[in-house]
Amino acid sequence: SVLQSTDFDELGELGHGNGGTVKKVLHRPSGRVMARKNLFIDRGPNKIHDVEVEQLKKQVFLELQVLRSCHSPYIVSFYGAFVHDGEIFICMEHMDLGSLDYIYRKCGAIEEPVLGKITVAVLEGLIYLYHKHRIIHRDVKPNNILLNTKGEIKLCDFGVSGEAVNSVVKTFVGTSGYMSPERIKGQTYSVQSDVWSLGISLMELAIGRFPFPPNEGERNLAVIELLDYIVNEDVPPLPTGQFSQAFEDFLHVCLIKDPRKRPTPAQLFNHAFVVTARDDSITDMVAWCTGIKDQVTK
Ligand code: ADP
Repeated sequence: SVLQSTDFDELGELGHGNGGTVKKVLHRPSGRVMARKNLFIDRGPNKIHDVEVEQLKKQVFLELQVLRSCHSPYIVSFYGAFVHDGEIFICMEHMDLGSLDYIYRKCGAIEEPVLGKITVAVLEGLIYLYHKHRIIHRDVKPNNILLNTKGEIKLCDFGVSGEAVNSVVKTFVGTSGYMSPERIKGQTYSVQSDVWSLGISLMELAIGRFPFPPNEGERNLAVIELLDYIVNEDVPPLPTGQFSQAFEDFLHVCLIKDPRKRPTPAQLFNHAFVVTARDDSITDMVAWCTGIKDQVTK
């Protein structure tokens, strides 16, 4: 069925992104609670004409069709998109615990067994996107990993968007601290680039703060200093004695600067840290997620 603006009741606000606001909404015809994100059309300084905007919107919709064919327990489901008042709205599965950046800011650094479960889910998601759809995520970071009280961990916001979405929509991440050295240098982008971003994200979740600059209390880096640091300096190590050798090694291989020497998601699936996490029947994600519910629900 086709989604339209009049079919929704707004239930609350879930967050703000680069593109706009994400709202929790009820889709009355289906009775389904959804997360609805709007993409602002960026007409830019040169004020492109309405006709062009219309053409671009059509193109954006074609590109979004790929999302419809993505079905995986590790990918946030896409329900559809519509245009209203000159804006594009995207409707997706509502994840009731929100994103990992919000979760760790509220609840503190995340313990290693849970990081293991997060790693398995992200790798499963990346492997699915690439092997089934030839999609590279391009924006792996704690904001784009969502959890729910069913104990599920899913990826959202991946780079299906081609030229059209990039040209009209502002949501596009310019520079970010999760970008791999090769991407900063403008070289070829590959699945390995997502692995770098996963490594930085896991380190952030493990220590409870963004890992650059390495010492807490040091002044924040300007963007250019941060990018220079990522390209030229060694990645800050994990604090000693708090994590397993397997986790330390996992981060080490994710953060190899040369993308050709860095493993792919499929190769990482057999790394000792991941094998342990896959076999782990003790860590109960439903219990963990239920436990943090009161701290993170708005
Ligand atoms: P960003 O541009 O930073 O990736 P988004 O615009 O995708 O952010 O989302 C902003 C915030 O809204 C997220 O960090 C998250 O907390 C919340 N959010 C996004 N999508 C969902 C969803 N499907 N379910 C629940 N919360 C969501």
